Amino acid sequence: MKKNDIIELEITSLTNECSGVGKADGMVVFVPFSAIGDKLEVRILKVNKTYCYGKIERIITPSPDRVTPDCSIYGKCGGCSLRHISYEAELKAKAQFVTDAFTRIGGLTPEFLPIVANDRLYGYRNKLQMPVGVDKEGNIISGFYATHSHRIVPCDNCLLQPEVFKSITDRIKALAKELRISLYNEETRKGNLRHIYLRKGHYSGEICLCLVVKNNEKKLKALIDKITSEYKEIVSAVINVNPRDTNVILGEEEILIYGKPEITDTMCGNKISIAPKAFYQVNTPAAEKLYAKAKEFAEPNGKIVLDLYCGAGTIGLSMAKESKKIIGVEIIPEAIENAKKNAEANGIENAEFICADAGKAAKILLEKGLKPDVVIVDPPRKGCGEEAVNYIAQFGAERIVMVSCNAATAARDCGYFDSLGYKATKVVPVDMFSRTAHVETVVLLIKG
Ligand code: SAH
Repeated sequence: MKKNDIIELEITSLTNECSGVGKADGMVVFVPFSAIGDKLEVRILKVNKTYCYGKIERIITPSPDRVTPDCSIYGKCGGCSLRHISYEAELKAKAQFVTDAFTRIGGLTPEFLPIVANDRLYGYRNKLQMPVGVDKEGNIISGFYATHSHRIVPCDNCLLQPEVFKSITDRIKALAKELRISLYNEETRKGNLRHIYLRKGHYSGEICLCLVVKNNEKKLKALIDKITSEYKEIVSAVINVNPRDTNVILGEEEILIYGKPEITDTMCGNKISIAPKAFYQVNTPAAEKLYAKAKEFAEPNGKIVLDLYCGAGTIGLSMAKESKKIIGVEIIPEAIENAKKNAEANGIENAEFICADAGKAAKILLEKGLKPDVVIVDPPRKGCGEEAVNYIAQFGAERIVMVSCNAATAARDCGYFDSLGYKATKVVPVDMFSRTAHVETVVLLIKG
């Protein structure tokens, strides 16, 4: 097989990055945006020793899973990966990603419970982070970076965002033009406005607007004054200053220009405050289903619960009433401040929050003799890692509940726990990020 060969291929599975997989000439061929059951003519783009990459040249027979994608920039923006198959097929694929991760990477055989579906496939995100720039004609554009690149694919109507975000984004672009606010260019590092960041309380409707800029300048306040007078739902507007040449969106300095420093929302019946820098699950109703599963697995009644990687404390607080005590640990100071405030605002007196690295905090709490009955871990994509897992296992808690947005690292970490005497007994995938490749997983690990 060589570059530019055209081959016939049947797609038999999907990778967890949603690339279709088929076999030809003893080679594995990866084809993005294909579907299980597709019979395709594929052009080979790149050949490695045992596998190669191709792209669809022609669909000979479409998979029964196929549907017509309903977004004009699908395949270009790097956001969605599954708009070309039915939601039913998506759920099946995601359940398979999780099963494969646990059996292949973790070498584990837990009970796999049915995937929990998302109720809304459109407008479910409560947060938008859009880079802004200028196109060749000099028009201000906002959108998403193309896959593996920093080229902005303009997007005026992302189907995953609530409609009000589109309206606010359009207005910001118009005001930026009117006020002659310059747009940041990643290559030359010139210009000022970098990202538009919006977050909306799902139940409260309160919106936080955050303009990420290279430098603070007076015109930004003028923009914020205007937009907050037009959109009453914007109750918090901040400027975030990020002068660095970096992929990280938010910078350190944050200047409150209008309203309150954070918005409020309701999560599992608790009133929650969330600062722009604090992590908050992007799909609130789906997160409530996720937390309900975590609670079901934790069986927190009368127990001491250690909630590691707690963000604004939302998981622990969702089970505080039943628990004897909640101890939350999180590395971002703003999130910990929110967590403390959130406990207080809900009259929760049995919760305590520590700002620290989860592994280091686990080590210190162990030395202090803390004996949690349940440990919840909800790490970022890279997982807990072996060192943190080692400390966590030493608590000897009867159960560990792992919540993860990356089944591969979750399976790896569950493998570490397995060697330390914790059996992954139940795994449930939860679909929070419909139409994208992402899937959330909740795992129950039992001691002995
Ligand atoms: N449980 C929370 C947050 C989950 S996201 C919720 O459901 O909302 C993962 C969280 O881990 C983020 O808040 C992130 O800031 C935090 N984090 C990342 N690395 C960490 C570390 N080494 N130690 C503690 N917290 C960490």
